[in-house]
Amino acid sequence: MAKPKRKAAVEARCPCGSGLALSDCCGAFLSGGSAHFGAPTPEALMRSRYTAYALGDDAYVLGTWAPETRPETLYAPGDARPKWLKLKVLSSAEALDGRTGEVLFEATGRTAAGAFRMKEHSLFRREEGGRWLYVSGESPDAEATLKD
Ligand SMILES: [Zn+2]
Repeated sequence: MAKPKRKAAVEARCPCGSGLALSDCCGAFLSGGSAHFGAPTPEALMRSRYTAYALGDDAYVLGTWAPETRPETLYAPGDARPKWLKLKVLSSAEALDGRTGEVLFEATGRTAAGAFRMKEHSLFRREEGGRWLYVSGESPDAEATLKD
């Protein structure tokens, strides 16, 4: 017996780990999304960028990157893209003047070489129009390779 259509169309949870459906979470901000002014906080932007990485939406990752630090492409031709498995936001903060913000997070992924975990302290800036942009990030610890 065929399943009812609606049930078959139940949407996957957002890759960012919020527990919400993709369209109720980061999906609203990704390329083609309806949220014109973008993610409302540095953490929301960080989560949506992780989700874009996980879904291969390079245009969104690059489009939310400050022009002065933005690379031309995310991956060189032939580069292996990691499969992103998990995001954990450890802390996030916004400056009192609302112009800058920062997020500390941990992301787990896997490449052909095995699973890895990276920690990054990302910096964000709010543009005149209110949009948040990713400016830069640094890793407090060296990348740790996990055992399979
Ligand atoms: Zn999300």
